[in-house]
Amino acid sequence: MKIAVLSGKGGTGKTLVSVNLAAVSGAADYIDCDVEEPNGHLFFKPQKLFAESVKLKIPVVDYAVCTGCRECVEFCKFNALAYIKKLIIFDKVCHSCGGCVRLCKYKALREQDKIIGNIEVGKADNVTVYTGILNVGEASGVPIIRRLLSLADDCCDTFIDCPPGSACAVMESIKDADYCALVAEPTVFGLHNLQMVIELVKLFEKPHGVILNKCAGSPNPSEQYCIDNNIAVLGKINYDNELGAINSNGEIAVNAREKYKTLFLSLLNTIKEAQK
Ligand code: SF4
Ligand code: SF4
Repeated sequence: MKIAVLSGKGGTGKTLVSVNLAAVSGAADYIDCDVEEPNGHLFFKPQKLFAESVKLKIPVVDYAVCTGCRECVEFCKFNALAYIKKLIIFDKVCHSCGGCVRLCKYKALREQDKIIGNIEVGKADNVTVYTGILNVGEASGVPIIRRLLSLADDCCDTFIDCPPGSACAVMESIKDADYCALVAEPTVFGLHNLQMVIELVKLFEKPHGVILNKCAGSPNPSEQYCIDNNIAVLGKINYDNELGAINSNGEIAVNAREKYKTLFLSLLNTIKEAQK
């Protein structure tokens, strides 16, 4: 079963939830798709198995051959090409479709590999940890996420720690998930971000439920929204200084205290029941 854990913004407890669900589930794959700032590995401290770089194909021009016809500029729908005295390639916005290279009848363009980031795979007890790292300054982590998700096998439960927000990188992260667990804070801002991801998972027709984090009694706008809109609440994690301290120290809560093991086991069972 592939469980994507997401939230509309950073800092809601997405990594806390996905790391602890993976750790409590026995054998599991944990995939850190938050490639701009991956931090799940800080909890697992995995023994490295292998690493690889992620490359894109970017066009390069041979100015000795280019006639300046500008057909490639007209063709590129991503505005990655411009002609200002000579052909200019904006590799940061190039989507590596390869179209311009095939289009140029003068064979003035060819493709060249460009490294945009890395993947590291390691093992921590029974959890295989997949970490994607996008190089600073690169525009999109989607190719890294695509590669990360292709590496995980189907032999055990997979926990996908999604990037924050609801843009392309999140869509790529959830597209093959069997279930989406949405982590929400008990504030007006938390509700606003929760609504964004609910819209997204509905668009993808994914079964989903909400984990209410940092609960501190009433009012809880996110909980009230779930009740009013008939959205499954998978469980609550109370505002808890001890849990915060364990998490801040880079420890895995389910390994540190029996009470957190019970909490996350219950959450995992609820998710599995909800997915049936
Ligand atoms: S299509 Fe080929 S020849 Fe024409 S501007 Fe582009 S690279 Fe140059
Ligand atoms: S490879 Fe595709 S996206 Fe990149 S410059 Fe060529 S046409 Fe544009």
